[in-house]
Amino acid sequence: MAGKVYLIGAGPGDPELLTLKAARILSQADAVVYDNLISDEILAHIPKTAEMIYAGKQKSKHTLKQSEINALLVELGLRDDLKTVVRLKGGDPFIFGRGGEEVEELVKAGLEFEVVPGITAAAACGASLGLPLTHRDFVSGVHFFTGHGCKELEPKLDWKILAAEDKTLCVYMGLTNAQIIVDRLIEYGMSADMPAVVVENGTLPNQRHKYTILRELPVVLEKDGFKSPAVIIIGKVVGFAKNLRSGMLKS
Ligand code: SAH
Repeated sequence: MAGKVYLIGAGPGDPELLTLKAARILSQADAVVYDNLISDEILAHIPKTAEMIYAGKQKSKHTLKQSEINALLVELGLRDDLKTVVRLKGGDPFIFGRGGEEVEELVKAGLEFEVVPGITAAAACGASLGLPLTHRDFVSGVHFFTGHGCKELEPKLDWKILAAEDKTLCVYMGLTNAQIIVDRLIEYGMSADMPAVVVENGTLPNQRHKYTILRELPVVLEKDGFKSPAVIIIGKVVGFAKNLRSGMLKS
């Protein structure tokens, strides 16, 4: 009988941010397909006997193509000798994780699947700075969007809505196209002085961040050499968090 395929979110990096459910299923895994950025402490939950397959996803390193990952998950899922197959992904499996494409293939193959959510990078990065992504005094919501392939995405990205200043913006994979993003936001009406912060390696021992303003963001990223993985957060709540930390808030 075919087993079940679990898409599990490993969270942003800190092994303590793994859910109890994720830890339990990992401890029962027969095969695990895992991504780059999953720490050894998290992998340590997996039995030594499990088949471990590295799917990668790091620029310039050899990795499996998404179509190969999909096919591999189906192949493992169909194997009679594997009861618990895990696809382990950073953050949450359904936020920029291609989890949607993977479950589509599993369903096509008639396989049973379950998704275990994980703490997504933007939530973790905000929390780590004491930065509330929403705060009713400043914004009515939050946009998570990707800067990857920004140019190709441009017809789909509604810059007018993104630039409206009434929502916090959390940009995943935004380093390469930061200049384009900043230019568009300003062009569509966002204040060039809007507070922004970049958080690299959020929740990991080597986490670092830098507060700036929208206009200066690309220079800061370049000058301080920020590298992936990093989330950029833009909006009024960033100013709030910065003031909170520096004790500048009026009581
Ligand atoms: N599914 C993941 C996102 C995958 S896309 C999630 O829910 O978090 C990969 C991008 O996530 C990175 O380029 C970066 O923008 C962000 N990211 C992942 N881990 C991060 C971390 N520890 N700190 C900052 N950004 C991170």
